[in-house]
Amino acid sequence: MMKKYNFSAGPCILPQEVFQEASQAILDFNNSGLSILEISHRSADFVSVMEEARNLSLKLLGLENKGYKALFLQGGASMQFLMTAYNLLEKKAAYLNTGTWATKAIKEAKFFGEVVEVASSKDKNFNYIPKNYKVPTDADYFHCTSNNTIFGTQMKEFSSVAIPLVCDMSSDIFSREMDFSKFDMIYAGAQKNMGPAGTTLVIIKEDILGKVSREIPSMLNYKTHIEKDSMFNTPAVYAVYVSLLTMRWMDRKGGVKAMEELNNKKAALLYSEIDRNELFKGYAEKEDRSTMNATFNLTDESLKDRFDELWKAEGINGLNGHRSVGGYRASMYNALPPHSVTTLVEVMQELERKA
Ligand SMILES: *Cc1c(COP(=O)(O)O)cnc(C)c1O
Repeated sequence: MMKKYNFSAGPCILPQEVFQEASQAILDFNNSGLSILEISHRSADFVSVMEEARNLSLKLLGLENKGYKALFLQGGASMQFLMTAYNLLEKKAAYLNTGTWATKAIKEAKFFGEVVEVASSKDKNFNYIPKNYKVPTDADYFHCTSNNTIFGTQMKEFSSVAIPLVCDMSSDIFSREMDFSKFDMIYAGAQKNMGPAGTTLVIIKEDILGKVSREIPSMLNYKTHIEKDSMFNTPAVYAVYVSLLTMRWMDRKGGVKAMEELNNKKAALLYSEIDRNELFKGYAEKEDRSTMNATFNLTDESLKDRFDELWKAEGINGLNGHRSVGGYRASMYNALPPHSVTTLVEVMQELERKA
């Protein structure tokens, strides 16, 4: 089998060595004579997986011993759109609208109270990040999306706000260094940069909870999961385990700092070709370009079939843009080897030679 160069936006590429360890654990987990798929989630072996996964997520982000709790929940990042509002929205919340996912988060929050959209980039089909907006100080929290997976834009700065700061980091968690203690809550569906689909990392500062007057059903209440160390009900055992393997891999490689260096190199390589090669143009505003998802188009649409043929023949997978943007999207998550980007750049140059 020839391995593909996988630029898929999610579920995404994971490190090859993680696939190997993960498959071994299906056959025999920790030399227990049992598969990871058949052990009790209350077994000592799995309890220690969950513990390590929660601790390592905080360690990688520099959030240990700072009043944060890490949870691995189910329902995807989409479930967090409503859980954040359910748990935090008493009267009014402020949201920054930077794309499809932010729009969906806003829609869910409106079930629970008033939503102030502080700014939106919808006027240009979300190809930039709005700046210089004012966040109302009387809102219960401010919600933003650090990386817009579909449109290929990424927030480079997060202004400090006086109210709790909540961020959907689904598609760039663990990809760059930052002072993460600015955030009061971070959530991320695992399948973009951390693991397989099926679990969502939620990191929450405990002191922002308990401020709403409504009653919250147990499964949707962060306090339930915090009290039970993320084991209130059966967690997504395998998804958590493979996420742990990926986090261990990141840690071994030098943590978020090393990931960022590599991600910057990969992104620079591709964007410089997009800017150099006259057959291509970038979709997102340059200053807001994402290091994770690069969106671009052909300048001459009639070359589409030829380009598609070339990259497919080279073993590239997952390059088609999202239906709401069209064109192409190259997702360059942590585990994507630089060689994959070089290969894509070569194909772009080959198109130039043949056009
Ligand atoms: C993919 C994605 C989501 C949705 O994640 P699900 O786990 O499928 O619910 C939300 N936000 C962002 C930024 C995403 O990239």
